[in-house]
Amino acid sequence: SCIPDGTNLCFNNSFDTPTISPRSASSSIPLSLKTQTLDGYFSFENIEYAAKDFGNIYHYLPIAVLHPKSVSDISSTIKHIFDMGSPAKLTVAARGHGHSLQGQAQAYQGVVINMESLKRPSMYVGTGELPYVDVSGGELWINILHETLKYGLSPKSWTDYLHLTVGGTLSNAGISGQSFRHGPQINNVYQLEVVTGRGEVLTCSEKQNADLFYGVLGGLGQFGIITRARISLRPAEKMVKWIRVLYSEFATFSNDQEHLISSENSFDYIEGFVIINRTGLLNNWRSSFNPKDPIQASQFSSDGKILYCLEMAKYFNPEDTDIINQNIEKLLSELNYISSTLFLSEVSYVEFLDRVHLSEIKLRSKGLWEVPHPWLNLLIPKSRILYFAQEVFGKIVKENSNGPILIYPVNKARWNNRTSMVTPEEDIIYLVAFLSSALPSSTGTDGLQHIITQNQHILDFCAKAQLGVKQYLPHYSNQDEWQAHFGPQWDTFVQRKSAYDPLAILAPGQRIFQKAI
Ligand code: FAD
Repeated sequence: SCIPDGTNLCFNNSFDTPTISPRSASSSIPLSLKTQTLDGYFSFENIEYAAKDFGNIYHYLPIAVLHPKSVSDISSTIKHIFDMGSPAKLTVAARGHGHSLQGQAQAYQGVVINMESLKRPSMYVGTGELPYVDVSGGELWINILHETLKYGLSPKSWTDYLHLTVGGTLSNAGISGQSFRHGPQINNVYQLEVVTGRGEVLTCSEKQNADLFYGVLGGLGQFGIITRARISLRPAEKMVKWIRVLYSEFATFSNDQEHLISSENSFDYIEGFVIINRTGLLNNWRSSFNPKDPIQASQFSSDGKILYCLEMAKYFNPEDTDIINQNIEKLLSELNYISSTLFLSEVSYVEFLDRVHLSEIKLRSKGLWEVPHPWLNLLIPKSRILYFAQEVFGKIVKENSNGPILIYPVNKARWNNRTSMVTPEEDIIYLVAFLSSALPSSTGTDGLQHIITQNQHILDFCAKAQLGVKQYLPHYSNQDEWQAHFGPQWDTFVQRKSAYDPLAILAPGQRIFQKAI
């Protein structure tokens, strides 16, 4: 329902959160917030950016943004709001790099904490037998990469894009082409410092406050704000062989992917994507790759068919080039791709990991980065992936000109299942990511409404066919759906909420719990 008072406020049936920001909410700023003593400071004006995210679909205006300079700025603010009690209605959202998709880092008429302002402690690399890096929760992964490389080290598990914060990805999972081997980023953390919804500052790890540690990892920001993380590292190679090959049969493609994620001594990164009705794109994606057989490759035509691209990478140091080439040759000989479509590129380790940033620069220059992003990310059990592919690619999704569709399996046997993250039951699961961009004013197939409707068709199909799918970066609008998402883990999730954030102050933009008024 909408309020006819000129503010354009519309409320969801289940959660009283507006889908459009009011013009101003500054009249309701509690005086006590303004007079708090802090190392950092509050902003009450020009804070519209905190009502925006990468999704660019939901916009909830806060009343204040905290720029913390110390952990105590965060703990004292939360403690203060906690002490005000329920009637105060104030909520708090940590905002990492604001790259959520549906307002998850926003707080309607609440306080947004700009985590990137928290620079303490400065990064520290421990170089012992189990190397690690200590970082602030607001640190960007790209900065961690550059810092750890100074010691010849690197985190093990990544996301495809590195301009995201540690707190933001650890609140979800952090999945990429390395997850089949190392698990997601949430499985590569030794220790956290967390400010709970009561304002307490707690250190937690597998051995200390373990319930909070596992709760916070993949916990969608519900139990505490991550102010510091100790992340495990490995020796970093200097270079990367980056390879793409094509398939026209989904079953052959997915068999090869599954073979690779189960092989010892395999590639270091394994992903893949779907190409539906995209002849132009074919030339695009291979432009920076050299074909193994240029003449044959130039004759390759997709004929408008659906193609599946397997993408692999092997890290190496220049002195080991011969051994690595042999190793790659052997791995490729075990695959069944279309032989003329082997494309290879050699790039530095940093160039490879930071590859999406190049696309960002290009899209920004064309004004196409800040458009709405109605993304849909699904985790699908291996036993149902073929059926999903048959029914979705080419039928529900008839072309993918709106953005890439990633698809790759991960080996869950190597994942720690004590975190809050929810996954399908089976040992091998696929991440399928529909990474669409929408043109705001379009009413066609590249318009926001069309893409949202298409996403809903995919979800409806999954539900009807009972595929046992779970959303990644989940988004629901009522608690029944959240309960269904968490399934047997729901009770634990609720218990942790009442233990660590009993007034439901934290991360209101996830729309899981609502602060009692
Ligand atoms: P925000 O959007 O700022 O916050 C996300 C959530 O975490 C919010 O609920 C927020 O309140 C909470 N939060 C933020 N900081 C903290 C903290 N310190 N403590 C507690 N809670 C906190 N994900 C993958 O797994 N793999 C990928 O390959 C991948 N690629 C991506 C590529 C792009 C271009 C984009 C835009 C996103 C991608 N993502 C990927 C999704 C991304 O991991 C999440 O959207 C992540 O939450 C973004 O991090 P952020 O720092 O922007 O977090």
